[in-house]
Amino acid sequence: MVKNAFQEGLRRLGLGEELEEAFLRYRQELLEWNTRFNLTAIKDPEEVMIKHFLDSLSLLTLFPQEEATLLDIGTGPGFPGLPLKITRPRWRVTLLEATNKKVIFLRHMVDVLGLENVEVVHGRAEELGHKPEYRAAFDLVTARAVAALPALLEYCAPYCRLNGTILLPKKGDMSEEIAQGKRAAAMLGVVWESDVALDLPGLEDGRRLLTWRQRKLCPESYPRSGAAMAKRPLG
Ligand code: SAM
Repeated sequence: MVKNAFQEGLRRLGLGEELEEAFLRYRQELLEWNTRFNLTAIKDPEEVMIKHFLDSLSLLTLFPQEEATLLDIGTGPGFPGLPLKITRPRWRVTLLEATNKKVIFLRHMVDVLGLENVEVVHGRAEELGHKPEYRAAFDLVTARAVAALPALLEYCAPYCRLNGTILLPKKGDMSEEIAQGKRAAAMLGVVWESDVALDLPGLEDGRRLLTWRQRKLCPESYPRSGAAMAKRPLG
């Protein structure tokens, strides 16, 4: 049987085709809720499979572990955290989102898919990052389409455990933003590791994954307030 791009993507990631069923259900709920709650600009069903689901799963190319704790900051309707959880049942996943209607959708989706060890948190990254239970608590921290690198790293670093991974999906020429990110990283105990172009069906359009390592614990003074971050970006 000829595989479609999503099925081929699952195969290339070493994932079984039986997982497709959960993703079809996720897509059905996403597009249905989208008519009322405006959760995503991507409305074409095939594009959802590739640009949301497979793009989220691309993180597995650099972080294939079977056991991990993951934080997804500004997850929106679940990207990339929820697709990753579908394929990695032993991960403990925290989905952080500032907008209540998206939080309601996420809780519904976790329920529909019967996922365990997923915490959906309604809040802002710059506030939750000072709570002891979340501080330096995660093996992997990610955020897709939330902010430019200096702010993104300031959001992520406080949550990342020592020697943990910060994995950030980005698109297009990143040289200037990476330079800014490196200046911010130096203040956050983070070092830059790699910039890898995606090689998955339908995603060879300048999408890339930036990997950063938490070499020292992030200083307690970060993250600053949203106002301070906007006024004095680290990079
Ligand atoms: N990550 C999802 C994706 O890739 O489709 C959503 C991206 S959407 C453009 C950005 C999301 O980040 C929004 O849902 C917004 O509410 C959330 N967000 C922005 N700033 C945030 C913050 N400081 N803390 C938590 N969530 C935030």
